Amino acid sequence: MKEIRTVRGVNDLLPGNMDKHIKIKEVGSKICKLFCYEEIDTPIFEFSDLFSKPLGETSDIVTKENYVFKDRSNNSLMLRPEGTTSVVRALINGGLTQDLPQRFFYSGPMFRYERPQKGRLRQFNQFGAELIGVDNFYGDVEVINLAYNFLKNINLINNITLYINSLGDNQSRNNYRNVLVSYLKKFEKDLSTESKIRLQSNPLRILDSKNKTDQAILRNSPKYFDYLNNESRSYYENVCNSLTKLGIPFKQDEKLVRGLDYYSHTTFEFKTSLLGAQDTVVAGGRYDGLSKMISNYSLPGVGWAAGIERLALMTINKYNSSPKVTLVSQSNELNSTILKYYKFLIDNDIKTEMIYSGTINKKLKRANKTSSEYAIIIGENELENNLVQLKNLRNGKQLKININDVLDEIKK
Ligand code: ATP
Ligand code: MG
Repeated sequence: MKEIRTVRGVNDLLPGNMDKHIKIKEVGSKICKLFCYEEIDTPIFEFSDLFSKPLGETSDIVTKENYVFKDRSNNSLMLRPEGTTSVVRALINGGLTQDLPQRFFYSGPMFRYERPQKGRLRQFNQFGAELIGVDNFYGDVEVINLAYNFLKNINLINNITLYINSLGDNQSRNNYRNVLVSYLKKFEKDLSTESKIRLQSNPLRILDSKNKTDQAILRNSPKYFDYLNNESRSYYENVCNSLTKLGIPFKQDEKLVRGLDYYSHTTFEFKTSLLGAQDTVVAGGRYDGLSKMISNYSLPGVGWAAGIERLALMTINKYNSSPKVTLVSQSNELNSTILKYYKFLIDNDIKTEMIYSGTINKKLKRANKTSSEYAIIIGENELENNLVQLKNLRNGKQLKININDVLDEIKK
């Protein structure tokens, strides 16, 4: 059979996998509501400059990962690479700035032109949460606690470690940027091509480099933490102390930085050892500078996004799609007569599959194949008095009973 082409890095979600996504989103939504977050949805494409302005021309997402296209009116549009910027825009456009704080969660597809591999797709799904309007360290603590509870409730927390770091305030960031640049200048000729460019444009981002030589050079680089001013340091200590009070274990990772200028103070990632190189399942941080870059408003914000595909790869529990009851007639002519039984079972919340064609043996084979618990078999003889043959497919026992008694019997 000839395969029909699909776009690279773009996947179908077939039922087994789809179900994991649904479960992850269901749990996420339940936990978010418990923390008083409300669901929000924004368009999957926006004017390109909404994303490119705050991301800056030098960030990964804008330099090479974006899906940009012109529409018929020659507008430059971008498929959204992330959710936060749209959420902040929606809050502003929706006139909610007078009513802060606002707590939102969202889920949906994001688009990035990346090299596809396990856990890295060009269309992937995120589940995210944003707390907007709290400029206090308790906000950082709240969203981390939310992410922690989310991962705990999808039963993945045992395989996941929380790493946190602080980027401090603007003053601290500038202090550090200067010393990092002076340090790296000494090794400039050995840096990767990408890092050479970043040394001019966005030096903090070099700390993120996956290049081996870059990493070796960075091993002895000045430590970000040493350049935090007192305020930033106490902010960070407050976050750490509160996490400890909440019983949330974490590790400090001084290399955990975001190259984007709108981030400040806390950055955090939840990582797993189960997925190889694509090990970050939740990434988040404080983005107090973001709203100013897209509007006249200055709104503090902190939040995170989880990669649903990566969480699904870690999820082993399989949804049980087996029917409770398989409904079959001895001869296919009876199908129309037994539709009323089909309705009866469904109305009573019994997961039912009706089999429409084939010999009775074939039908029972199918019932076994789906691991159905019971078969209800109906022949000419049973039609009077609403009788049916109820067969327990686990132990083979068969009863002739009234359809109304089936519910009691199968719930026993
Ligand atoms: P990475 O370092 O893996 O590229 P990132 O820093 O680009 O991640 P974020 O933009 O912070 O990731 O997105 C948050 C989460 O979304 C990531 O931690 C990851 O779980 C998921 N994610 C990001 N990009 C992809 C992708 N291309 N395919 C699948 N999941 C992704
Ligand atoms: Mg990325």
